[in-house]
Amino acid sequence: MPGPVILFAAKSERWDQYEHPLRTALSEVGLSDAVLTTQAAPETVDYIVYAPNSRMQDFTPYTRLKAVLNLWAGVEDVVGNDTLRVPLARMVDHGLTEGMVEWVTGHVLRHHLGMDAHIHGQDGVWRAGIVPPLARDRSVTILGLGALGAACAGALAALNFDVHGWSRSPKTIDGITTHSGKAGLADALGKAEIIVLLLPDTSDTQNVLNADTLALMPTGAIVVNPGRGPLIDDDALLAALDTGRIGHATLDVFRTEPLPPEHPFWTHPKVTVTPHIASETRAASASRVIAENIRRGEAGEPLLHLVDRDLGY
Ligand code: NDP
Repeated sequence: MPGPVILFAAKSERWDQYEHPLRTALSEVGLSDAVLTTQAAPETVDYIVYAPNSRMQDFTPYTRLKAVLNLWAGVEDVVGNDTLRVPLARMVDHGLTEGMVEWVTGHVLRHHLGMDAHIHGQDGVWRAGIVPPLARDRSVTILGLGALGAACAGALAALNFDVHGWSRSPKTIDGITTHSGKAGLADALGKAEIIVLLLPDTSDTQNVLNADTLALMPTGAIVVNPGRGPLIDDDALLAALDTGRIGHATLDVFRTEPLPPEHPFWTHPKVTVTPHIASETRAASASRVIAENIRRGEAGEPLLHLVDRDLGY
C-alpha cells in the first residue's frame, strides 16, 4: 500500500525550493513511500503543506485530510477558515528563529549605538563625544514571548540589555523581566526604550500599538516591527513620529504588502522599511519539521506546534 498523499499547496517557486528537501526529510523519518505532489484529487489527500499565497480557500473536498501543515509561522490567512476541520500546525523552525534573532539584534544594535549618525554623517564633521549608554542601561521590550520573541529576548539579554517581555500567559524566563495579559502591557511599554513586536496577528493583538499605548512609551522610543502590519495603527505611529514621541520606526511588515509606493512610510525620514525579509522559513530545516509531523500523524502521535484555533495562533 502506498504511503500518505501529501499535497504541496504553494507557489511553483516554493516547490522548486522544497521538493528535494521534503523528499529527503520524509525518507529520513521512514516515509519514502509517501506520495508528495502538487496535484492530487482532493479526496485522496492526507496532508496539505500550506503556504498562505496558495489561494486554497475551500478544504471541504479534502474528505480524508488529516492535518494542514502551515509553511510559515503566521497563520492569520487560514486560522479562521471554517471549512478547515482538521488540526492546523504552524511552522517553528530553528532556521527561521535564528534568522529572526539576527535581524532583530542587528536593528536593535543599530538604534542603540546610534549608527545612523555616522553612516549618514560622512560630511566632514567630527562627531566625537556621542557615546551610547551600555546595553545594560538600555531597556528593550519584546511584545510576544513565543518561539521567536523568547529567542530574541534571550539574545538581547546575553548582550546585557535590560530586557522586558510581554505575553498573554505569565512566563518565567531567566534574565528577562516578564509581564503578561492586558494588565501587564502598560508596565512593559513604560520600559520600552526600544520595542520589538513579535506577536501574531489576531483580533486581540491588532492595533496593540495605537495612540494610547504609544503615549505610554518613553519619549523618543524606537519601534521595531517584524511581527505583522496590523499590530500597529499606522496613522497613530506617523503622528507620534511627527511629534517626536517616537524616535524611529523600523518596519518589516505592513497592512498591505508589497507596501504601496505612495505610502508615507517610504519617504518618512524617521521610518526604515524592509520588505518582509526579517526571517524566512528555511527549506531544509522546515522540511524536517513537516516530515516529523507527518510521521507523528501516521503513528497517531500528537502533532507539534498545533494552532489554537480559538486564540488564533
Ligand atoms: P508564537 O505563537 O510562538 O508566539 C506568540 C507570542 O505572542 C506568545 O508569547 C503569545 O503569548 C503572545 N501573544 C499572543 N496573543 C497575545 C495577546 N493577546 N496578548 C499578549 N501576548 C500575546 O509565535 P512566533 O514567535 O513563532 O511568531 C510570532 C510572529 O512573528 C508570527 O505570528 C508572525 O506574525 C511573525 N513572523 C514574522 C516573520 C517576518 O519575516 N517578518 C517571520 C516569521 C514570523 P503566550 O506565550 O502566552 O501564548
